[in-house]
Amino acid sequence: MICLYMDSVSRNKMGYEPILPYLKQVRAIKTREEALKLMAAFDAKGFNTAPYGISLSTNPFNSSEYLISAGAGGTSLPQEYYDNPNESQQAVVAVFKNLNKDYLKLVGNSDDVAERMMQAEWAIEHRIGIKKLNQVDQRDPQKTNHLMTWEQLLQDFKGIDWIGYRDALGYPQDIDKVNVSQLEPLHEVEKVLAETSVEDLKAYMELHVVKAYSNYLSDAFTDCQFNAIAAIAGVQEQEPRWKRAVSVLSDNLGETIGKLYVKEYFPESSKQRVYRLVKDLQQAFEERLKENSWMSDSTKAKALEKLHAMHINVGYPDKWQDMEKFIDIRENDNLMENFIRIKQEMRQARIRERWHKPVDKTRMPCSPQEVNAFYHPLYNSINFPAAILQPPFFDPDADYVCNYGTVGTIIGHEMSHGFDDEGCLYDKDGNLVNWWTADDKAKFDERAKVLADWFSKQEAVPGLYVNGEKTLGENIGDNGGLQIAYRAFENRLKQEPLATADCFTPAQQFYLSYARIWACNATPEYIALGVNSDVHAPNIFRVNAALPMIDSWYDAFGIQPTDKMFIPKDKRALVW
Ligand SMILES: [Zn+2]
Repeated sequence: MICLYMDSVSRNKMGYEPILPYLKQVRAIKTREEALKLMAAFDAKGFNTAPYGISLSTNPFNSSEYLISAGAGGTSLPQEYYDNPNESQQAVVAVFKNLNKDYLKLVGNSDDVAERMMQAEWAIEHRIGIKKLNQVDQRDPQKTNHLMTWEQLLQDFKGIDWIGYRDALGYPQDIDKVNVSQLEPLHEVEKVLAETSVEDLKAYMELHVVKAYSNYLSDAFTDCQFNAIAAIAGVQEQEPRWKRAVSVLSDNLGETIGKLYVKEYFPESSKQRVYRLVKDLQQAFEERLKENSWMSDSTKAKALEKLHAMHINVGYPDKWQDMEKFIDIRENDNLMENFIRIKQEMRQARIRERWHKPVDKTRMPCSPQEVNAFYHPLYNSINFPAAILQPPFFDPDADYVCNYGTVGTIIGHEMSHGFDDEGCLYDKDGNLVNWWTADDKAKFDERAKVLADWFSKQEAVPGLYVNGEKTLGENIGDNGGLQIAYRAFENRLKQEPLATADCFTPAQQFYLSYARIWACNATPEYIALGVNSDVHAPNIFRVNAALPMIDSWYDAFGIQPTDKMFIPKDKRALVW
């Protein structure tokens, strides 16, 4: 697959030939019925031509069982970009529209035709996008889960051919329960499918065929895409081809690539050491929960239960998914067709393996080669892929103080997600069940609000402020992560005292290592993009706004009221 991706001579010679047979089918559509049927058939191949979809997922109210999720698709940006966008959001919309037009021109449409098709597609996207929940409301599971029967779905959303779609994608015939994420945009999709002219539906489909596999076509497509990214994020240089090849493979083949990665780069000794850190953090979290002054004993007991029920995945899963048998690379097929076939077979295999079976909550919801970490609320699991367990996040050769400040705070961050404003709505088994007394929940919300208000005051680029509510879960994660990791570090310091090194006390070293993991260079465009579309605050605030909330940071550096980052003690958030 790497060779197929790297062979730019053949790919450039082919141009958009790989998608041409699909474009021809779209262009030959005569009636609405034909359009709707082809939308579903093409979705099975990963073209995203239907502005709705279904997938196999976990029941949030009974997280041991699989069900089918249904929802609206069709949009490429968060809701705010469609509904009264701010200046930087408007700039992104303009870049997206230009990119869409360029794509349409690259597949043989004249400037005028491409402009008309682009506007037709955008009108559909805009109608659906404006009805979606904004990014703050999207974090509220009460607003994004609507359990119903399959019959009710067919009844309530008559404008969509669910049976045709189910069969085209090979989902089981005996679907009983369905979870609809957001009702309003899905109703809008029904209207769009009924009211939009066939010509405009064809424009929508044509663009989505091009977009879905643009990375697998000639350089003209990837260059267009890069120019758009450069304009949106201020990036100056395209990644070398080999890196793009690795990303495409890694995104599509997940654990298969992960197995090779782990074998080469992740020793068993690192797994053991990080596992011990996780256990230290769990102990520190337990101590802090027991000392907690604002929770009642009954809620506290449930919180402790949840903490100890967490599944821990370090590096790679205990049980690999073994998808290699589906990777059948045919040299006579082009890169795109190989991926289409492999992904279809993998999807069918997953459905066969999981349908009517209990959910395996020990499964890792990410690939080992991802530089990231995750909390999964429905599995109540914390996951640390192998690729994040290397410097600067984890250094097997460093003093332990450094590792508590780096990966320790990451571990604490993921644990705290189990108790952030969203995670706290799920119980120890990952079910959307309230385990709080009303009084305790009110106290929690009050404490969290201090953090939300504080982050809303942070100006990221001139005139653009962080959204404290949207980033609240992540900021509770950082706040809790710092508190817990620091306690774990203190516990270890009692057993193994450390000396001052390079003029820095162990406590100062802890905070310096923390700050170092978030150090980065970012253009103003990139920062604005993050504020507009990410649930994390920009990196600089994960240090400069997070630390002034932590008492032990003041002690470590002797911060005084006259110092710039000082916040009076009674204004600091203390959640976990
Ligand atoms: Zn997080």
